[in-house]
Amino acid sequence: MSKLFSQCQMDQGGKLFKAFNSSAVPSYFVTGCLCLALLTGCNVFPPIQPSVDHLALGNPSQARVVLANSDNYLMKKPQFALSYNRRKGIPNWVSWQLDQTWLGEVDRRNDFRADQSLPPDWEKVDPRDYRRSGYDRGHMTPSGDRTNSEVNNSATFVMTNIVPQRPDHNRGPWVNLEHYCRDLVEEGKELFIIAGGYGEQGAIAKGTIIPPKNLWKIIVVMEETDLGPQSISVNTPVIAVDIPNKQGIKTHQWQRYIVSIDSLEEKTGYNFLSNLPEDIQNRLEEKVAIPER
Ligand code: MN
Repeated sequence: MSKLFSQCQMDQGGKLFKAFNSSAVPSYFVTGCLCLALLTGCNVFPPIQPSVDHLALGNPSQARVVLANSDNYLMKKPQFALSYNRRKGIPNWVSWQLDQTWLGEVDRRNDFRADQSLPPDWEKVDPRDYRRSGYDRGHMTPSGDRTNSEVNNSATFVMTNIVPQRPDHNRGPWVNLEHYCRDLVEEGKELFIIAGGYGEQGAIAKGTIIPPKNLWKIIVVMEETDLGPQSISVNTPVIAVDIPNKQGIKTHQWQRYIVSIDSLEEKTGYNFLSNLPEDIQNRLEEKVAIPER
């Protein structure tokens, strides 16, 4: 049986069973429900990840779910967490955990859409706003990092996970780094990833979307999955890149854009890895690590 099946049985069936047991529902009903779930490959209960804390290493801009905080508005989803910037029409950053459980066979859904979970009064960026702008609709959490279910893949296509990204940036060093990350995961590693932009260049969509001047990404590489942030030491590999959001860099290797987390903290004004002890945080943040592979 597939990995999906057993995970589904564990996460959905288990909770369901407990819930039914505690409320004195006839056992044939419970059995029936479980059989139905198993027969349909769990499609009646869309597979979701057991709740993952995508902000395990911290919330670098102290984003909050407060309407007045419209330029640093926290959105937590099962698939990733982000800080939304209403004025810019893009996320400031998006943070996500990645291990093998997120990877499967689902095809790219491509269903770009406005994020209706934004506050009702706020204008919502529409996928068509990027037309003829000279920018790609650039994923922060990649579609390729969420392929274990249609629901999870589709979740990466909300416009709050998207920034205007120059095509050469998106299809060059950025996508190559995404592949590098998934290769690490295929080896059994667990990653904590955060990506975002800083700076501004000419607005698009009648001034409603402001593309970032640079895009950055930080990756913390855990040797295996489920070790938890407390296992992070000064020897834990970290990768940080800072890549200008411009054309003409398609053939560039992402490795040439490696920087320290310290330099990204300076550029963005954020505090990364803030949940880690101060001494470990400082040591990891000064590294300019070139991974060997
Ligand atoms: Mn920090």
